[in-house]
Amino acid sequence: MSGRRLAALVRDRCADADLAHDVDVVGQVLPFKVSGHVIDHLVDWKSAPDDPLYRLLFPHRDMIDPAHFRAVERALGDPAELRAAVAAVRRDLNPHPGEQLTMNIPRLDEGGEGGAVEGVQHKYAQTALVFPRHGQTCHSYCSYCFRWAQFVGDPGLRIADDGPRRVTDYLRHHPEVSDVLFTGGDPLVMRTDLLEPYVDALLRPGLEHITTVRIGTKALSFHPARLVSDPDAAPLLRLLDRIVRAGRHVAVMVHVSHPRELEPDLTRLAVAALRATGAELRSQAPVVRHVNDDPGVWRTPGAPNSPSASTRTTCSSSGTPGRGATSACRSSARTRSTGTRRRSSRGSGAPRAVLSCRRPRAR
Ligand code: SF4
Repeated sequence: MSGRRLAALVRDRCADADLAHDVDVVGQVLPFKVSGHVIDHLVDWKSAPDDPLYRLLFPHRDMIDPAHFRAVERALGDPAELRAAVAAVRRDLNPHPGEQLTMNIPRLDEGGEGGAVEGVQHKYAQTALVFPRHGQTCHSYCSYCFRWAQFVGDPGLRIADDGPRRVTDYLRHHPEVSDVLFTGGDPLVMRTDLLEPYVDALLRPGLEHITTVRIGTKALSFHPARLVSDPDAAPLLRLLDRIVRAGRHVAVMVHVSHPRELEPDLTRLAVAALRATGAELRSQAPVVRHVNDDPGVWRTPGAPNSPSASTRTTCSSSGTPGRGATSACRSSARTRSTGTRRRSSRGSGAPRAVLSCRRPRAR
């Protein structure tokens, strides 16, 4: 669900017309959408808008400057004026900070005729980021996402590749790359038959130096059915299993921001399904105000970074990378989820079980 339906959902569930209006205005500028799983299983609507999962996944008035808010609000009734106001605000928001559209884009032949390898970023010697064209959206959008410009429908702001051939041509000439990180967006919004050619290409002779395949995804949190009951779940799990059997390390970067993301039964099944393939689950997340900035959240038994959990989560509150070596789940150059709480918070809520994300068995 996205756009004005999101505001209608908030009006309906929270019985708060002002809050819904804020969602409507901010949602014109910053892309937001939520999955059915988020609506039905993650957000505690009785505690919204202070509920940490609501804060993580819904627009808030304080995400944009008050002057920007008023400019968009004034333009709401006039489509042409609204388009202009939104475009002006987006320009001011510094889409793709750090010159990501131009920096770290490799060339096939370093200064020669081969040209840029679109949809690849190669910043750290051993890691190449790949943005598969069909994976440049997400099951739900996070309020802190600094990749929001990927999702506004402007081809000039979108990082996306030209398919696996050019990517693998580049990698074949770069033996220093040991890790390929599929990122976005969320590569697991793609059908498995679209993801498979990328993986197959990495497993061919000449690319043995690619020892680790990483996938940055929030499917576990936002759409666990993708990994359990979706018609395309079994093919995806078979694909992961096949990479592991080929002797490559598979790391699924799940980026859990709050322990409640791991509570739903379907999510637990999805964790088990992923682990059964031999993939390793890893998580790191930025510290986001009102979501996980209470140290108690990270101490919660079962939280990805708690002493009782068997894998550690990295938190990042700066403008430095937070989502794997990749992508989106990094703390933005600006902190988007900020502001004053409108209602009392019910607290973090402890998950009921410890979920181990350890590699389950040696292959
Ligand atoms: S932070 Fe990651 S999962 Fe969230 S909207 Fe951005 S790319 Fe998608």
